[in-house]
Order: sequence, then structure tokens, then C-alpha cells
Amino acid sequence: MSNHHNAGSLSSQLWHSSALYQNSVKQLVEAAETMKLDPNIAERLKVPKRALIVSVPIRLDDGTIRCFEGYRVQHNMTLGPGKGGIRFHPEVNLSEVAGLAMLMTFKCSLVGLPLGGAKGGIRVDPSKLSRQEAQALTRRYTSEINMIIGPDKDIPAPDVGTDAQHMAWMMDTYSQEKGFAIPGVVTGKPIEIGGSLGRHESTGRGVVYTIQHAVKHLADQGKPWGKLDSTTTVAVHGFGKVGAIAALEIYQLGTKVIAVSDVSGAIYNKNGLNIPAISKHLSKGQTLVEYPEAEVITNEDLLALPVDILIPAAIDGVITQQNVAKVKAKIIAEGANGPVTTEALKELEEREVFIIPDILCNAGGVIVSYFEWVQGIQNFFWSESEVNEKLADVLSSSFKKVMDVRAKYKCSMKTAALIAGVDRLNRAMLLRGLFP
Ligand code: NAD
Repeated sequence: MSNHHNAGSLSSQLWHSSALYQNSVKQLVEAAETMKLDPNIAERLKVPKRALIVSVPIRLDDGTIRCFEGYRVQHNMTLGPGKGGIRFHPEVNLSEVAGLAMLMTFKCSLVGLPLGGAKGGIRVDPSKLSRQEAQALTRRYTSEINMIIGPDKDIPAPDVGTDAQHMAWMMDTYSQEKGFAIPGVVTGKPIEIGGSLGRHESTGRGVVYTIQHAVKHLADQGKPWGKLDSTTTVAVHGFGKVGAIAALEIYQLGTKVIAVSDVSGAIYNKNGLNIPAISKHLSKGQTLVEYPEAEVITNEDLLALPVDILIPAAIDGVITQQNVAKVKAKIIAEGANGPVTTEALKELEEREVFIIPDILCNAGGVIVSYFEWVQGIQNFFWSESEVNEKLADVLSSSFKKVMDVRAKYKCSMKTAALIAGVDRLNRAMLLRGLFP
């Protein structure tokens, strides 16, 4: 990177090896230039505070031993303990995890949480693991990173390839090693061991809350697609924890979800898909593309559908310079982290596509994770409607904050969201000062 204080060092080569990290830094630089951020702060935010690489050996079901590589990166903890998911994916690497940790810092700051940014992962294909192997891997990984996590230090949560069961194993491993139950070490836990009502749905639900705000804003501007009704068409890329809930919530608002996809392919029905029926179909162990009342198309076809709203909710780098010309959606809600590259974003903004940036769009997950942490500390649990109401409030004021910044700087939505996040953090960093 230009003027990187450590250019050429081992760490700078490691950090910058993934497109996701490079994109995150590019977006930070753009925000820093637009808001005229203190250059010392901008430089500091380009690299994480701390990173741990661990080897995670486990015994496979066939008796052999295999060693996987795991990571935990803490990007910035000025505002509070680190917060961020654990990803199990065959392509995960240190640089990608660092880029995701950086996004977590800005996300937590943007939505006003007293939390910093972190992320973790294991380079593994979770679909190839038995339940026993997944459990062994999760427990050994937790044990290997236990010196840097904890309810006051850094609190993991689920991400791609992990779920509430993995969090239960992490909580149990950490608690066994300390000698007593410590539910606050992770969020996204099952309800039975201190999880929050509404956490599972929170990210997808938050995606749809932000779409509702975007639609209202577009309606106020007189755009004909500023509405959510039976004429509104939606496509969801990635029918996972985030995408399936977002699809369900927007379907329940009466819109027509005409296509959804997962890693196996995409399904399409121009008259609208029955989202609850698809989830039921998947729960029987069948694949998405085997769903009968739809046509099978490719993931690339899905991205090019002439829909009003496109929700990329799978992985990063899905809409790029190569395919952006084909994208016809009028609103893109970034359910995933970094699904649209910086170059593709520029082209979409020029075409006046309304972008709901990831750190705002998918912040529902970390907001309710924060609620889960707070409920755990107080040992006092809230009703689901209370959780949803508080979630809606936080997202509503965060959306407004981003729109105000956008109006002030006349910048893109992406830059506005980043500025809103960086601004609060910047003030906190300047107040705390440089140690020693
Ligand atoms: P998940 O593993 O539950 O779901 C991912 C989905 O994407 C799956 O359906 C998978 O089949 C599909 N997929 C994977 N690779 C694909 C590809 N190349 N093409 C098409 N589909 C593909 O993960 P998730 O938790 O839903 O996370 C999805 C995204 O949302 C990630 O970017 C994650 O970082 C982000 N996110 C998740 C949360 C959360 O609370 N889970 C919160 C904020 C952001």
C-alpha cells in the first residue's frame, strides 16, 4: 500500500495478501481522505492490533491425525472488548480474517456498541467433517486461543460455516478450563445456555430493517421502486443463516422473492418462491436445487436478474469488475461482508444503484450479540419482542447517521458508513491517547 509505514515487512505482506483486506483498506483510505481524518489515526487503523496463528491438531474418525490452521485477529479494542465471528472455510487465511476484523471495528463503532473489532477462522471445509471431528476441532481451537479471548477481552460468535452448536462447544471448553460456567465468552449460543431470543434471526432481520429504511428514503425522493409490495422483486444470493432469514422476512412483507441460491446453485420462479416451503425442503436434508417448484439457474444468472432488490448474503467478492455490468438490481443490500468490490461499487454508485453497506446492513447480528452479552452479564433475559424493538431502534438511528454523513460529505453510501464508524472511533482514540 502507498505510504504504508511498514511496507515490505513480513506483516504487511501477510495482511495485504487477500482481496478482502485490500478492499477494506481502500475503503478506509477513501473515508479518511473524505473526512480529513488525522493521518496518524488513519495509519494506525490500516493494521490490526494483534493476531494469533494456531495449529489445531485433531484425530479424524479414521484414526489419523490432521493439523488445521486457525486464526484470531483483534483489529482495534479502543471502544471495548473485541467482537467478531469464527469462520470455518477452506479458503480462510490470516489476511482475510484481518480484513473482516477491521470491518467489525467500524461496524461496532458505527452502531454505537462498546465493543472493538475482531475475527477468527479455521482453514477447513466444514462439510467434510463429522460432528465428532467438528467438535474436536472447535474445542482444540478454543483451547489454543484461550489466552486472548474472554468475556472482558474478546467475544467470538458464529460466522460462515459455524453455528450455535459450535458456540456451545467453545463456551464449554473455555468454562472447563477456567473451572466454572462462563457464558459471556461467546455470543450466538443456544438459548438453553444463555443465548438471546432473536439472535439467530437478528442479522437477516436487520438486513430487512435497513432495506425498509432505504425504500422509505427512495420513496421520499419519488423513485417508483421506493416500495415493498407484491410488485417488488427480490433475489437472495446465499441462503444460509443470514440469507434464509432475510429472504423469509422480506417474503413476509409481501414481496416476491424470485430467486435464492447456495453453493450448490440457484433456483428461480418468476411468480415468486415459497420461502417457508424451501426452508422445510432443506430441513429434510435435500439440496436447494432439488426443490421442485422452481427452475435451476446458476449463481451468476441470479446476480444478473432484473430485480428491484438484490441481497448478496453468501461470501465476499461476489460482484466484481467482471460481472458488475450485468447486475440490474436497483437496491443492493450487502448481507454478507464485502460482497461487492470497491471497483464494482463505484460503477454501481455511478448508475445510482442504492447500496446498503455491509457494516450497516448486516450489523443486526452484532447488535443482538451485544444484547446477548449484556443479558448474560446481568443474568436477566429479555423477551424476543424487546430484543427486536431495541434492534430496530439501533438500526434506525444508525441508518439516519449514515444518511446524515452522506448528505454532509456528498459521498457514497459505503464511504458514509465508514466515516460514521471511523468518526466515533477517532474521537475515542484521541481521548485515550497513545500509550505509553
Ligand atoms: P452460512 O454459512 O450460514 O451461509 C452462507 C451461505 O452461502 C450458504 O447457503 C452457502 O451455501 C452459500 N455460499 C457459500 N459460498 C457460495 C458461493 N460461492 N456461491 C453461492 N453461495 C455460496 O453463513 P452466514 O452466517 O449466513 O454468513 C454469510 C455472510 O454474512 C458472510 O459474509 C458473513 O461474514 C456475513 N455475516 C454473518 C453474520 C451472522 O450473524 N451469521 C453477521 C454479519 C455478517
